Amino acid sequence: MKKCPYCFTELDDRASICSSCRKKVGKKGRDGIAKKYTSPITKLILLLFLIGLIPTALTQFTKSDSDNNKKQPGIHITKKGYVAATTEQYLSMAVKIYASGDMNAFYKLMNSNPNIFPLKEGVRVYLEDVKLKGIVKIRPEGSTVSIWTIREAID
Ligand SMILES: [Zn+2]
Repeated sequence: MKKCPYCFTELDDRASICSSCRKKVGKKGRDGIAKKYTSPITKLILLLFLIGLIPTALTQFTKSDSDNNKKQPGIHITKKGYVAATTEQYLSMAVKIYASGDMNAFYKLMNSNPNIFPLKEGVRVYLEDVKLKGIVKIRPEGSTVSIWTIREAID
């Protein structure tokens, strides 16, 4: 015997439709409850989806491998959610306020000081200098101005 996964009516192991709720049911699962019916088309779509994912996963794997080989000073890509500043002093000011947890003060500072701004995601940058405490100087591609940010902001 197996149970319907929808209404838990006891069914014959060979039943493909629940005698009570008339829903399609699959084979008996390990817990004695029939599996929910998956149409062959859904299965095919899932399979194709998985096949499509494998090459993507492989390319990402090989890519991160080669990326590790050119960590410095090559091209880096910025991640989102980090602050940047035109000088080390401005950056440490922003980081200090951010670390204090006062987000209102932090956003006020970003809005009022043009030297402190959020770092755009996905910008290609060149690493120019690395300071203690994980602070780095980067130059966005196509820009002549260098900016400071924290190490975690780039890959
Ligand atoms: Zn049922």
